[in-house]
Amino acid sequence: MLINTSIDVNNIIEKLNSLHHELNNRLVGIQNDLSRGRSQDSQEQAQETENDEVLHALAADARNELIEIDNALSRIRNGTYGVCVACGDIINPERLAAYPMAIRCMECTES
Ligand SMILES: [Zn+2]
Repeated sequence: MLINTSIDVNNIIEKLNSLHHELNNRLVGIQNDLSRGRSQDSQEQAQETENDEVLHALAADARNELIEIDNALSRIRNGTYGVCVACGDIINPERLAAYPMAIRCMECTES
């Protein structure tokens, strides 16, 4: 099995954890926005509904990212982190530094 030895795992874990923390805070903020009081005015209500849809989409994005982070952490635990799931090649460390949840190498992402 291929292991990506050119990555600083501790640094990646730190990054993933802080991202996790940030996303959790964002989710809490979104939940607060969603649970705020509603206007009596029908036009404002329409605007609020529209805003809520945006918030729900943002919350879904944040949840997906949290899942990706959890997956990345479990790949670190089982030793498969940094290896492309599609071709089994090593993922460029620079790519992982920019996007630590990456599961595919550059070529496989582009194809
Ligand atoms: Zn690949």
